[in-house]
Amino acid sequence: MNEETSLGSMPLFSWTEKTHHFEDGTHMLQLFSNICMVETSEGVALFDVGLPFHGDQIVKELREFTDNPVLYIIYGHGHADHAFGTEAILEDARERNHPRPKIVAHKNLPRRFDRYQRMLPYHERINRIQFGIPENIPAFPWNYIYPDEVFDDRLVIPLGEITLELHHARGETDDHVWMWIPERKTVCVSDLWVWSCPNVGNPFKVQRYALEWAEALEEIIALSPSLMLPGHGSPLEGSEKIHEACSTVARALRHLDDQVVDMLNQGMWQEEILHSFQWPEEFASSPYLAPIYGHPYFVVQALLRQYHGWYDGNPSHLFPAPSAEIASAVLELAGGAQRILKKAMEAEKNGEYKLALHLLDFALDGDTQHREDALRLKVSILEKLAEKERSLIARNIYLGGIREISKQLEQ
Ligand SMILES: [Zn+2]
Repeated sequence: MNEETSLGSMPLFSWTEKTHHFEDGTHMLQLFSNICMVETSEGVALFDVGLPFHGDQIVKELREFTDNPVLYIIYGHGHADHAFGTEAILEDARERNHPRPKIVAHKNLPRRFDRYQRMLPYHERINRIQFGIPENIPAFPWNYIYPDEVFDDRLVIPLGEITLELHHARGETDDHVWMWIPERKTVCVSDLWVWSCPNVGNPFKVQRYALEWAEALEEIIALSPSLMLPGHGSPLEGSEKIHEACSTVARALRHLDDQVVDMLNQGMWQEEILHSFQWPEEFASSPYLAPIYGHPYFVVQALLRQYHGWYDGNPSHLFPAPSAEIASAVLELAGGAQRILKKAMEAEKNGEYKLALHLLDFALDGDTQHREDALRLKVSILEKLAEKERSLIARNIYLGGIREISKQLEQ
């Protein structure tokens, strides 16, 4: 990957290490994901602790500016890039004869950790695709350090001259926490705000919550923070800017939520909704909603899953015939796979890549003779789609598809 995956107006995932220092003793270590370090006269609180291999770097950066003990580690949520650098921080405390930091999280986080451990091979597989991680690098954490204290809705922790107000909100996860420090007018939001269209409706992951995400951002706006430390990307300073950044994202989420609810009420089914929802220019051109990670289409998918079951309105799809059977019948009618391939090539030439892929799938599902030609054409179309795709997740799905097909072609 490039040094910075800078696809929108701001780098979302930065591989450039940078520590932001603020005058009041708040610091933010910007790595792939961000780590907030809150220094007080009594000790330090860390909010989010990154990926497993971030731990040593967190300790190194922290010890550049303070020898005080880390008293709290707060998990903003239980994702792999936010709650796994813990071991090195505990080790640092042991070496320094400091008390063991207390780990605090929302009460749903332990259940998430249980699920991850139960389904490790699955999470390895989907995260490898989502982030395009090479085969020789582990794609998911294996060492789980559970919280010492969990809370439900809200928890207030006095620390030296400041107060850490922890708030729960469902958003990207059901265990999400944002932290407000009133004395510093600072908010640490983890992935509730990340310089991208919110990652609601990730194609691989469990349910996420668009409306509650918007509500959390509105609660944050009401506090008028003057510093916002996001889960990824650069910090935001100035209450007006933060207001605009949060309200744009909240309005966009509400806009999509309202549309899906309206269209479901009107009797529309998934396919029609997915092809007809509106994403106004105001959002499409906003630097706060760039579809570089999450995507409005994914958000609509999540809303459909949240408000509706999986039936798509067509009884043919209730107990469908296998794709191979359908494809064989279509190929027979079309006069063979070669004719379908020809049609797919025409579609590709006309730039109708999505149509071309569907046509190719008939050839691939129903014919073994022209498999290699069809696979090669599919690779060439996926390459074109990947090249122009801005969403990291969508692009990696295309690239993952290309890798899979290439393996098949080598066999
Ligand atoms: Zn994250």
